[in-house]
Amino acid sequence: MPIPEMRTSRWIEVRNSPIHGKGVFAARRIPKGTRVIEYLGDRITHKQADDRYEDHDPNDNHTFLFIVDRHVVIDAGVGGNGARFINHSCDGNCESVIQERRVFIESTRLIEKGEELGYDYEIGREKDDPDNVDEIFACRCGSPKCRGTMLYPAEKPVKKVPKKKAKKTVKKPAKKPVSRAKAGRRR
Ligand SMILES: [Zn+2]
Repeated sequence: MPIPEMRTSRWIEVRNSPIHGKGVFAARRIPKGTRVIEYLGDRITHKQADDRYEDHDPNDNHTFLFIVDRHVVIDAGVGGNGARFINHSCDGNCESVIQERRVFIESTRLIEKGEELGYDYEIGREKDDPDNVDEIFACRCGSPKCRGTMLYPAEKPVKKVPKKKAKKTVKKPAKKPVSRAKAGRRR
């Protein structure tokens, strides 16, 4: 049985946000662990996403792409629903959960009516990121835990690890390998 589509949600409402543009707010008290809404949009390949936004200003992060895995990108700019307006937060009350290559936004704690929803986009760093990528994806979520960037990890990785050190380095698995929001929803 396929998971039913959650295009709309009784839990939320979209309105202007003090963080950024439009935001998504709890229309009622949302218990912890609630599947709030599905992140919907046009399901395309990375190549299609690149082609579609080829002319997009690289200094503007306002697209609605959510990287599901290395094959699938959801472009909520086409056929998207309210989920695309959920802002990034470094210490959010929601998380993105990937199931059967679909994306669901779930609450990670009790959310009171009127609270803005947010989750960590954890936008992955890529080799061809422009030098000002941290500026483009600067975070102003206002959380005391704000790391100042929507990118993850917060620090630019050291380019070359000397071989001696590399041997000693224990490779830790990524926190959540495939289910990273990665280039998150580039808004
Ligand atoms: Zn932040």
